[in-house]
Amino acid sequence: MGKLKAYIVNDKWNDAGSIVVWAETRGKAKSTALYNDVFDGYEYTELRTERVKDFDKYADTKKVPIQELLNMSCWFSCRKCGEEYLDYDKIADDEAFIDDVDYSNNDFVKGSVICAECKKKLEECRHVGK
Ligand SMILES: [Zn+2]
Repeated sequence: MGKLKAYIVNDKWNDAGSIVVWAETRGKAKSTALYNDVFDGYEYTELRTERVKDFDKYADTKKVPIQELLNMSCWFSCRKCGEEYLDYDKIADDEAFIDDVDYSNNDFVKGSVICAECKKKLEECRHVGK
């Protein structure tokens, strides 16, 4: 088996979103991506890949720290309510926060993002529980 390389896989309309896949070749990255729920119903020929050398080092765990993805101007959905487009700017403005919980829908990501409202609710729950 050759060395695994990191690719960002996206669809050509930029509709479904992007995922990170580790594979030996571009073609294998696309085939692997088709098994992900994100690309359910998509065809091989509809996918696009982008090589990301910086993520090669995560091939062992197949998880990229969320901070690095945010730095690349990726956005995430709130792991509680699903609010979209939580990005680096929103985190800088305290409208969203990085959480240590791995969000299962993004299985290539280490960590998740939570919106300010959900974070507040969670903290209130914790206080009630004490
Ligand atoms: Zn939320």
